[in-house]
Amino acid sequence: LEAKEEFSHKTLAMDVMRPRRSDPPLSVLTQDSMSVEDVETLIAETSYSGFPVVVSHESQRLVGFVLRRDLTISIENARRRQDGIVSTSRVFFTEYIPPQPPSSPAPLKLRPIMDLSPFTVTDQTAMEIVVDIFRKLGLRQCLVTHNGRLLGIITKKDILKHMAQMANRDPDSILFN
Ligand code: ADP
Repeated sequence: LEAKEEFSHKTLAMDVMRPRRSDPPLSVLTQDSMSVEDVETLIAETSYSGFPVVVSHESQRLVGFVLRRDLTISIENARRRQDGIVSTSRVFFTEYIPPQPPSSPAPLKLRPIMDLSPFTVTDQTAMEIVVDIFRKLGLRQCLVTHNGRLLGIITKKDILKHMAQMANRDPDSILFN
């Protein structure tokens, strides 16, 4: 991530982030409403390196970020070694775990594997600044919000792809775009 001069001041985080308008929505985890099976399905159906955790789909308030690798290992281990963890066990990323109804399976507590303060920028942040932060903090990804709601994600590869695109374009189209 060297040539930051590739970025005109006009490129914003929202221009580089995923999902694009035509893409399926961001794949997220909710902090207290998914079952072990829901999470396993999400892992099986996607190949992303990580998942933002939100309060709920309705609120889209960001709670943290979980790496796919940690999620997979934790669920495998819990299923193997932890009593009462089954497909219908509720997964919690919250600090407080409400008492489970008597007949329900043991809850799976995954807060310890969550990054509680993933790096975040707003959709209007200049990409020049985002690139600077990626370089200085050695980030792999960064989340994008608008008015406190989670909007998207930018990975290091997204930035590199965007830079390559800009470099291939006719210089005039970059200047006057
Ligand atoms: P990389 O960009 O290094 O391949 P990923 O495999 O995590 O990393 O991401 C692949 C693409 O999907 C990237 O364009 C990224 O912005 C996007 N992406 C990453 N995580 C998610 C997610 N949870 N939901 C939707 N899109 C994502």
